[in-house]
Amino acid sequence: MRLSQMLFVTLRDDPADAEIPSHKLLVRAGFIRRIGSGIYSYLPLMWRVLQKVSQIVREEMNATGAQECLLPQLQPSELWKESGRWDTYTKAEGIMFALTDRQDRELGLGPTHEEVITTIAKEMIRSYRQLPVNLYQIQTKFRDEIRPRFGLMRGREFIMKDAYSFHADEESLKETYRAMDQAYRNMLRRCGLTFRAVEADSGAIGGSGSQEFMVLADAGEDEVLYTEDSKYAANVEKAVSLPPDAIASPFNSYEKRETPNCNTIESLAKFLKCSPTNIVKNVLYEAIYDNGKTVLVLVSIRGDQEVNEVKLNNELVKIAADYQAKTLLSLKVPDELAQKQWAAKPLPLGYIAPDLEDNYIAKNNDINPKFVRLIDKTASEITNFITGANEVNYHFVGANWGKEFPAPKLVVDIRKAKIGDRAVHDPNQTLQTARGIEAGHIFQLGTKYSQAMGATFTDEQGKEKPLVMGCYGVGVSRLAQSAVEQSYDKDGIIWPVAIAPYEVIIVIPNISDEEQVKAAEKLYQDFNNAGIEALLDDRNERAGVKFKDADLIGIPYRIVTGKSLKEGKVELVTRATKEAQMINLDEVVTTLREWIETAKK
Ligand code: ATP
Ligand code: MG
Repeated sequence: MRLSQMLFVTLRDDPADAEIPSHKLLVRAGFIRRIGSGIYSYLPLMWRVLQKVSQIVREEMNATGAQECLLPQLQPSELWKESGRWDTYTKAEGIMFALTDRQDRELGLGPTHEEVITTIAKEMIRSYRQLPVNLYQIQTKFRDEIRPRFGLMRGREFIMKDAYSFHADEESLKETYRAMDQAYRNMLRRCGLTFRAVEADSGAIGGSGSQEFMVLADAGEDEVLYTEDSKYAANVEKAVSLPPDAIASPFNSYEKRETPNCNTIESLAKFLKCSPTNIVKNVLYEAIYDNGKTVLVLVSIRGDQEVNEVKLNNELVKIAADYQAKTLLSLKVPDELAQKQWAAKPLPLGYIAPDLEDNYIAKNNDINPKFVRLIDKTASEITNFITGANEVNYHFVGANWGKEFPAPKLVVDIRKAKIGDRAVHDPNQTLQTARGIEAGHIFQLGTKYSQAMGATFTDEQGKEKPLVMGCYGVGVSRLAQSAVEQSYDKDGIIWPVAIAPYEVIIVIPNISDEEQVKAAEKLYQDFNNAGIEALLDDRNERAGVKFKDADLIGIPYRIVTGKSLKEGKVELVTRATKEAQMINLDEVVTTLREWIETAKK
């Protein structure tokens, strides 16, 4: 491609709305343009990158025996009503764009395709003989994200590869899941990315597990906890660890103490000269279920620990049926205003005990009249503990479960694992932390959708069973941008060779120099004939401008047809290292081909 014929505009200044380097660079280098909130145009350079990423993804999927298809983006609401997700997706979470057509039929714009694919499976799969199958597509998805940001990282319209597999049993599902794990590792490695596969939260769906593929970068929205021995890595949302040992309590008799102005763990531990590990901290949460019911939750956890809200959320979804609900809409620590809506009298905030009486909750049909009391394992295991007295400025010391406080009924793990904690698999290993960008997620779904939608098959014994499912996503556009987040310098992008829009750029420093033009045109022809993807900077611009642009757009190799032509040589510069080499004109193609092949391995 000739730059003189391209819509090629680079910007000197960072776009005002861009917060992270990859977003700034992709806009400045003319790869993407913002059209609206979370809506971007992929300009020709970006489209080439996206096609290369897609092709790598496609090759690795095909190698596992998966089959490519293309499913509709316009999805009838009936499908989503069958699975039970229409209301949560359009109203509650509101992630799905919904519309009504001229016949008054409701439709959604596909944020994901479980409903569509399960409908197809329901109609087409009859027998175990047709199993397993794995179908995938590469397509634009629509999601009305609450906070679209970071360019392509969190868009409202983005490209995803999504695959769905169907099986006769869990064993077969696990086999495909392992093949997907390997395929994902291959994809990311081939795209030139540094990544980590981590255990992930499977939400309330349960199932037997899921794994995320995190591209490591400081700007990542996710936190990963891992051990040096590489035997454990998990998203912080899911991570488990051993808490520090509790220190023996200095109190051995139960009494009420005046503790003025001790409404934080820190001030209380200081005042009572005890360790935070001696304290049972009680945190109030307000949960709203999808049927509008508000449930107040009292979480008791050891004073030195924090609540992991994803784990808490999962526990509350598990008990949703108790409140005639399916899922949770929101979970938060209620602020003063929210408290006013349900508290019958002022709460002893900072001094709450695990047995805070239910009569603090005002009588209202939409509000559950009792607290749900969840005790984290760390709190359940300590003795002679300190906790609030349900009275401002007072605490109890030397308290015990089963004595002064009822023995815990619901003991759960809702504790946040953190850096420095000992690992469960080997207490000599401590957890380290890193930031990551979630590029992919593979998931053992089980029978959630097949059961809801009645997608069954007949097994070898002639019995009708629900199909066992897996699903596997890659954010193609997010992945492409994450490559930039991982690879840039002060001058611009440094594309990994395998996904660079072009492999080489030929710069003619002075287009009025005939010899320079001739040599460049010849090389350009040679590259085209050799299947090397080349850009030719034949613009009437100063050499300095051309070098700056070449660095900014991040083409892996640059060839300059400059003064050295007199000795029959050109300069070959590697973008990543800025190393320059003089190469004989007749060796350029073979040298470059070799470099490119090596870099793609
Ligand atoms: P996130 O937690 O980042 O919102 P998700 O759990 O909603 O992601 P999935 O539904 O598993 O994501 O989608 C599969 C993949 O699609 C993700 O791993 C991610 O790479 C990509 N993806 C999801 N949402 C977006 C988005 N708004 N913009 C770009 N890529 C996205
Ligand atoms: Mg999401």
